[in-house]
Amino acid sequence: MEEPGQPAVVREVVVESPGPNEVLIRVVASGVCHTDLTVKNLNGNGMPFPIVLGHEGAGIVEEVGPGVSHLKPGDPVVIAYRAPCEQCPACRRGDPRHCYAALRPQPRIHRKSDGATCSQVLRCGTFATHTVVHAKAAVKMPADMPLDRACLIACGVITGVGATMNTTPVFPGSRVAVIGCGGVGLSVIQGARLMHARQIIGIDVNPVKLGWAKDFGATHVIDASKTDPVAEVRRLTDDGWDGGVEFAFEATGIPKCTEQAIKMLSYGGTATTIGFPAETDAVNLNLGDFSTGVYWNKAALHVCHCGDALPSHDFPLMADLYLNGQLELDRMITQRIQLGDVEAAFHEMETGNVIRSVIEF
Ligand SMILES: [Zn+2]
Ligand SMILES: [Zn+2]
Repeated sequence: MEEPGQPAVVREVVVESPGPNEVLIRVVASGVCHTDLTVKNLNGNGMPFPIVLGHEGAGIVEEVGPGVSHLKPGDPVVIAYRAPCEQCPACRRGDPRHCYAALRPQPRIHRKSDGATCSQVLRCGTFATHTVVHAKAAVKMPADMPLDRACLIACGVITGVGATMNTTPVFPGSRVAVIGCGGVGLSVIQGARLMHARQIIGIDVNPVKLGWAKDFGATHVIDASKTDPVAEVRRLTDDGWDGGVEFAFEATGIPKCTEQAIKMLSYGGTATTIGFPAETDAVNLNLGDFSTGVYWNKAALHVCHCGDALPSHDFPLMADLYLNGQLELDRMITQRIQLGDVEAAFHEMETGNVIRSVIEF
């Protein structure tokens, strides 16, 4: 992205050699995530231009900088956009999943035409043949893990699965509702299945996405364009105790959906909001209603950032679950594209039925 408000373009960049504790990666595949489109639509979201988009990448280590001993050239890796910083209060108390910040490389990417330093989206910049990232943000993959699927782990999959394992651990036998059945919502559904939820209710307004929800493990689906999802969840879960789910996950970024998630909880349940809000977005929580008010229903609200992942632990776990046949990644790739097709992929994301477009280099 060269200018605010302009389409993304393919330009030549010069990528420096990695510095201390950095690695140079030849990108093999990168998913196109909604956050890349959001960064574009928010005119960089505070990042200086030019910007190299892309933060869901996998590739091969090409060069390691001084001080890097855990990786060597030729290693297959997935790039994590939140590698714990090791400095913040959470890291210092031994809770890296709640790290306030993330390790970042020095600026190593420059536009070839004028030498301008490029920002890297979420410290990654994977819409490029090569990128430099912090060495601890490059997580080694098993040798038999295909990198075109591995890239999905980096954002969409770990966000959704991690929401159910880390942010709000789903317990076996629980009831789960998932609002929004795109790439992240489908990953929440998969996570709920992996955690042995007994009822998984997928909610969307798009019948194609509801079909995907069933394919990825939803036991029930609700078309929220036709039915009030709160009433329908309560009806589907009615056990003589007013119904409701122990866990509701919002994967749309629409504030009203967070409100709905809270209202569809059973007593003592937890709603988790995942979608990226705009600066002025707000939710209105009723406290005092006897059946759905936050106070009387003893509802909790959690916020999920990137699945509260610990990439060095969780990314290899996701790869193992895929290789064991327990985590579906193949069907998440709805189209394979080239770097020059990113704008078209953004358009498809806004209008079409896409789980993930993956750029292959
Ligand atoms: Zn930290
Ligand atoms: Zn993302």
